[in-house]
Amino acid sequence: MEKDTAKKVAPPKGGKVVEIVQSCQAESCKKKVEKIGFCNEHFLWFKAGLIKKDGTYPKDFDKKYIQYMRKAA
Ligand SMILES: [Zn+2]
Repeated sequence: MEKDTAKKVAPPKGGKVVEIVQSCQAESCKKKVEKIGFCNEHFLWFKAGLIKKDGTYPKDFDKKYIQYMRKAA
């Protein structure tokens, strides 16, 4: 049996153009995108609620960031 380790990329459907963001959406971050528009670090932030999907920060970012750093420590 053959193992297919190559990533299969689905062709675009019906002429819809999907804009591919090459760098992390977070403000002032220019790292390479790893997951859903964020770099690895900011993807963890997104999961922790530290950053919104569009790359902006919530109003209570400071509190959340402190909590996040406590968990990570
Ligand atoms: Zn980032």
